[in-house]
Amino acid sequence: MRKAYKFRLSPNKQQEAKLFWTLNRCQELYNAALSERKDAYRMAGKSISYYEQKRDLPEIKEIRPEYHDIHSQVLQDVLLRLKRAFDRFFERVKNGEKPGYPRFQGRHRYDSFTYPQSGFSLEEKHITLSKIGTLRVKVHRKVEGTIKTCTVKHEAGQWYVILCCEVKGSEPLPISYEDVGIDLGITHFAALSNGEFIESPRHYRKAEKKLRKLQEALSRKKRGSHRRKRAVRALAKAHRKVRNQRRDFAHKASSKLVKRYQVLVLEDLQTKNLIKRPQPKQDEATGQYLPNGAAAKGGLNKSISDAGWGMFTDMLHVKAGWAGRTIIGVDPKYTSQICPGCGNVRSKTLQERWHSCECGCELDRDTASAKVILEEGRKQLGAGSVPQMNPPGESVEAPAF
Ligand SMILES: [Zn+2]
Repeated sequence: MRKAYKFRLSPNKQQEAKLFWTLNRCQELYNAALSERKDAYRMAGKSISYYEQKRDLPEIKEIRPEYHDIHSQVLQDVLLRLKRAFDRFFERVKNGEKPGYPRFQGRHRYDSFTYPQSGFSLEEKHITLSKIGTLRVKVHRKVEGTIKTCTVKHEAGQWYVILCCEVKGSEPLPISYEDVGIDLGITHFAALSNGEFIESPRHYRKAEKKLRKLQEALSRKKRGSHRRKRAVRALAKAHRKVRNQRRDFAHKASSKLVKRYQVLVLEDLQTKNLIKRPQPKQDEATGQYLPNGAAAKGGLNKSISDAGWGMFTDMLHVKAGWAGRTIIGVDPKYTSQICPGCGNVRSKTLQERWHSCECGCELDRDTASAKVILEEGRKQLGAGSVPQMNPPGESVEAPAF
């Protein structure tokens, strides 16, 4: 199984210049190789293969000695990319489609180069790239497996390294006897049916706050002004940061859940979004919408969590697949209104944070939802198809659904 890791690089000035230089040489080679294929076909009606072009590399280095300053496999990979572009092209022609002929790549489209086998080595905080140097890299996730390829990519003004790893075995985790219901929310990132919560990390909130501020600042700047351009850049940077943090958090949270639980039950997100969006609040006297009211804030927080949820559930599905876990989606219609103790409907407004029922069931609102979600999932699964037991910390008797 293959797994990819994307880490941010922090090259110094000289290294960055070398990265750009390498990228430009690769782009140049790509276009030259494309041009050669094109000409050969147009003038002689013959196609040139990847292997023929690869054999020409030493000669190219003689004519253009600066190409000695690029790792030879990186250059081979450039030609391989072109070969793949042609393979795709011919494949589509064969299928009777009308594909575009492989195109020359402009500076902005050609934004990466790859070490396909060797020429790189990763340490704790550095990566050494052959012919470029030792660059600082932020390794925010543990790299598992053997690194097969290393791609350096320039994206939105930043440099990244993407490591593709071969993970051995990917054998399913040992079976777990715990199941869990997961209620994704705004107050907590997730409430679990066993009473535990997964909180969004605090720095995440901080970054979101900053994002809001920058957004407001941008809206005050004049169109086309220099300050506006700067504000746009700052906003893009903040967005990137939030996105990266969110991805990182989603990875960690989903891994933890998949490791521990056998059956994971969630609400079907698309429907959930429609149901739980808070109503905009109006001022009772004037009828105007309240500027900084909870509803407005809830709306923004909500949109931010929505994006996080999607990423999180996607990862959960993928990881569950690898690990041999089961994921069940349930209809979110009444999950926040049903009492997990007695099964009766107890309607609550969005503001009510506590679930309290005549049957004696007293729970955090989201924990109650998570319990109902789990029971719904178990119903779908059918009794006895998966070994089950009450998760630890269960304070309420399992309802007799
Ligand atoms: Zn009850």
